[in-house]
Amino acid sequence: MKPFAVFPLHKKHDLVQVESFEHSRFLAGGTNLVDLMKHQIESPDQIIDLSGFEQAYDITDSEQQVTIGTMVSNTELADYAYQQPGLSLLSQALLAGATVQLRNRATTGGNLLQRTRCYYFYDTTRPCNKRKPGSGCAAINGFNRNHAILGTSEHCIASHPSDMATAMTALDATVHTCNANGETRQIPVRELYRLPGDTPHIETHLGADELITAVSIDKTPRGTHIYQKVRDRSSYAFALVSVACTMQVKDGIISDINLAFGGVGSQPWHAQAAEEYLRGKSATTELFEHAADVELSSAKGSGYNDFKIPMLKRTLVHVLTQASEHQNQHPEHEGAIYAR
Ligand SMILES: Cc1cc2nc3c(=O)[nH]c(=O)nc-3n(C[C@H](O)[C@H](O)[C@H](O)COP(=O)(O)OP(=O)(O)OC[C@H]3O[C@@H](n4cnc5c(N)ncnc54)[C@H](O)[C@@H]3O)c2cc1C
Repeated sequence: MKPFAVFPLHKKHDLVQVESFEHSRFLAGGTNLVDLMKHQIESPDQIIDLSGFEQAYDITDSEQQVTIGTMVSNTELADYAYQQPGLSLLSQALLAGATVQLRNRATTGGNLLQRTRCYYFYDTTRPCNKRKPGSGCAAINGFNRNHAILGTSEHCIASHPSDMATAMTALDATVHTCNANGETRQIPVRELYRLPGDTPHIETHLGADELITAVSIDKTPRGTHIYQKVRDRSSYAFALVSVACTMQVKDGIISDINLAFGGVGSQPWHAQAAEEYLRGKSATTELFEHAADVELSSAKGSGYNDFKIPMLKRTLVHVLTQASEHQNQHPEHEGAIYAR
């Protein structure tokens, strides 16, 4: 094997030898990757086990930001964020995801890079451009109830399933990486993912040898936080639609707003057009409805998922209404309220 010196993963043996990163995968909690291997959707030649990556289990807190190591579990992060008013959106989103057992095992980096739950991606007897480039998309004319309405292409309508990534998109988190040459970079989560276009199998801007080492979030006051997830069951179910929102209102005017949608986009959806429309305006129901229309002007249903367009609009208006009412009553409030 050609030695490929890289990551300081283990104190005992610093070098991980990897022959080809294209045909290898990083293994974190394994709650997604191992499933994909069992279904023969992923069959890497080599697994790079991150469990010995000792520096990556820490959460460090400075005056300006919180930095979360990639191996911090979803449970630990939810507990930590619950105690930090400025991160409470993250806690709400994490606790709305999966189950206790899964959250105990799942990690920060693995959660961001989990693959879609499209039924046809998992069914190896059906065409899927994401699994087998050029084979077609069975979802477009198939049973596409959990699929995306934003950012899709004629080659793929799969949705991104992560609740945590949706909250991190709203919080404008930054991903820290390191590649096989030891080069590091920082990528805003809002720029981490790629739209499917005609290459839906390429999901992020990360190189094959690029390891997520941590995620950082600035400690900026963001006002009231709400994560509302609409799903078929109250636990153990992915989002049909979710809205992550932080809002500050001063004298009835929206002074700051961060918005992201889950379950509806081919990537965690930064609702930038709605944010821009809302900022600096007086918080009214009519304004919220218009903001939803602005963001959803490019939304496209594929049949069974058409219901997501009105559902997302209603959920967004509901969340904005609750956040603004709370801010009007408690203008200094920083932290979570729970969506009714
Ligand atoms: C039944 C079930 C229900 C679920 N429900 C929800 C839900 O409601 N909401 C939700 O958001 N999620 C849900 N999940 C998904 C779960 O959150 C993910 O499986 C989990 O977060 C993945 O994390 P992991 O550490 O196990 O990743 P792994 O399975 O280890 O890895 C996932 C991917 O990330 C890559 N990777 C991991 N770490 C790194 C890194 N540091 N750098 C580069 N690449 C890396 C791996 O190579 C792999 O491709 C559910 C899962 C199951 C099985």
